[in-house]
Amino acid sequence: MAANDRTRVAIAGAGPAGLFLGLLLARAGVAVTVLEKHADFLRDFRGDTVHSSTLTLLDELGLGPAFAAIPQRRITQVAAQLDAGTARIGDLSRLHGPHPHIALVPQWDLLELLADAAAREPGFRLLRNAEVTGLLREGGAAGAAGGPATAHDGAGPGGGRVTGVAWRDRASGKEDGAEHTLEADLVVACDGRWSAVRDAAGLTPHAFGAPMDVWWFRVPRHADDPDGGFGRASRGQFLIMVDRGDYWQCGYIIRKGADAKLRAEGLERFRARLAALQPWLADRLAGAPSSFEDVKLLEVRLDRLERWHLPGLLVIGDAAHAMSPVGGVGINLAIQDAVAAARIVRPALLRGGPVPESVLQSVQRRRWWPTVLVQGFQQAAHRGVVGRILDEDAFDRPGAEPDGALPLPLRILEEFPVLQAIPARFVAVGPLPEHAPRWARRAPG
Ligand SMILES: Cc1cc2nc3c(=O)[nH]c(=O)nc-3n(C[C@H](O)[C@H](O)[C@H](O)COP(=O)(O)OP(=O)(O)OC[C@H]3O[C@@H](n4cnc5c(N)ncnc54)[C@H](O)[C@@H]3O)c2cc1C
Repeated sequence: MAANDRTRVAIAGAGPAGLFLGLLLARAGVAVTVLEKHADFLRDFRGDTVHSSTLTLLDELGLGPAFAAIPQRRITQVAAQLDAGTARIGDLSRLHGPHPHIALVPQWDLLELLADAAAREPGFRLLRNAEVTGLLREGGAAGAAGGPATAHDGAGPGGGRVTGVAWRDRASGKEDGAEHTLEADLVVACDGRWSAVRDAAGLTPHAFGAPMDVWWFRVPRHADDPDGGFGRASRGQFLIMVDRGDYWQCGYIIRKGADAKLRAEGLERFRARLAALQPWLADRLAGAPSSFEDVKLLEVRLDRLERWHLPGLLVIGDAAHAMSPVGGVGINLAIQDAVAAARIVRPALLRGGPVPESVLQSVQRRRWWPTVLVQGFQQAAHRGVVGRILDEDAFDRPGAEPDGALPLPLRILEEFPVLQAIPARFVAVGPLPEHAPRWARRAPG
């Protein structure tokens, strides 16, 4: 590829937000280039949940049958497993619509499906091993004095209009591969919670803090294990398990900053904790995790940008609002951002020339309150649930539930099962679900 290149829309990051946006814009007839820093989608940190509203979107895009062909598990009930017993907190079977469930699919399968569908559109291009390292700004084109603004030079929101990206070719694992530029009328940052594009633009998110990080590892799954995904909580401990067929993808929630201390306690201590928490896992913990090398630390962040746009630049998905894993809703929200963005910017893109910033502002206006609502729910869950579970002493404080009793909200949900539709809808559909615009729809194929 030429060192300098041009497209209409450059999208940084081929996660759920970037690929949905790329697919929709390509179907609008817009030339779009998605740049992904990795060679493939085979990474574990992404989350596996495909929610009812995303399943509906896939149907609308004609991708329902292809998605259904991916091996998957379905969740129709969300339950909390506590020392005092198991409580059902969400009953998805009470939802209306064609998908009263959440599908569990390794995210790389979903991303491959989207990338394949997008590749069938003439205007679409996906550059793998392409790490966006900075922004081009009006008056400072690549090679000109000043050069591109990079993630390191701190070009602030006050700079000229964004006119493209600078990117590095990381093919064959080259960290110092060739530098390229790609000019574009619109750049969209979909590069996740550590967004380099957002940094290069000088936009800083407000961090809300989170009480936890996650240890991410696999444990073999036996054919007679229970199905689906669930959470097991006990004094000071919280384990999430996602059924991936022949193994469990486990997320062990630790207090923020406790990684080094817990590792120093040793693997045997960790295995003993897991066995006490979920006794039927004990028979296979000797070999998995086999060392702390197999246990990855995933840092949890919850933050949000005040402003999701600059002239020539839009920021969406986790890059605009990093989501905690609570509720497993981040993928869904990122996809909803992408669908809204495609619908709102399309008319301006088809007219030609740069997209007015007022149009980009409309995207933020549309997606702002659903984001605030969902992040508010995650903050409340951090304080009221996760923080309390991780704080062993809280169990002995005055006012704590007596041993053997479920917390009051869970007792209410058990007593009145009809109420379980409310959390189910909030998680599986979310506030303000977006639908595929008519021009992006296709017959199932
Ligand atoms: C431990 C953990 C578990 C989670 N589990 C779930 C879950 O089960 N369900 C759920 O819905 N949400 C979950 N989430 C949240 C979810 O992962 C995010 O909200 C969601 O992935 C956001 O999608 P995105 O497309 O905005 O960004 P991402 O999924 O982060 O995608 C960003 C993409 O950009 C690429 N990229 C990054 N930098 C660059 C660059 N400079 N140049 C080019 N490409 C770049 C990355 O490689 C990646 O492919 C979890 C989060 C955490 C931390």
